[in-house]
Amino acid sequence: MSTESAFYDGGCTCRFVRYRMTTKPLFVHCCHCRWCQRETGASFALNAMIEAERVQLLQGEVQVVNTPSNSGKGQKISRCPKCQIAVWSNYAGGGDAVRFVRVGTLDNPGRFPPDIHIFTASKQPWVVLSPNIPAVVEYYKASDLWPKESLERRTALMARSLQQR
Ligand SMILES: [Zn+2]
Ligand SMILES: [Zn+2]
Repeated sequence: MSTESAFYDGGCTCRFVRYRMTTKPLFVHCCHCRWCQRETGASFALNAMIEAERVQLLQGEVQVVNTPSNSGKGQKISRCPKCQIAVWSNYAGGGDAVRFVRVGTLDNPGRFPPDIHIFTASKQPWVVLSPNIPAVVEYYKASDLWPKESLERRTALMARSLQQR
């Protein structure tokens, strides 16, 4: 197997920041909340959730910008310091251990379609959802929908972060 196909590389628009997801993500959220609509200036955000240690910075550095979030606890958005494109976020809930990689910054974003649509209550009316992908009005429980492998990875991640406390 070629190593090229095993990794998922991406970066910002000016190419100062280049990163690599070393494996597939845990789960991919298509979020239709108003906060994501404002942040993208579009209709939804597409975020690949993945363990932070599985995202390598290949080149450049990121600037972390504290941004208000729906939960009120804020999110940290990592941006290219030069072109200001956001490459990933960390939310208060998942802490620093889980990154939400912006799928649109991957070189091949089409490899990661959404696993779920969330906050569809505020979905823009012209967006038509596939009947084959789960959709929830607000949020959901990972244990209900994540594949077994992702749940095992999540358990391992939580065990590691407990040890570090
Ligand atoms: Zn840049
Ligand atoms: Zn959102």
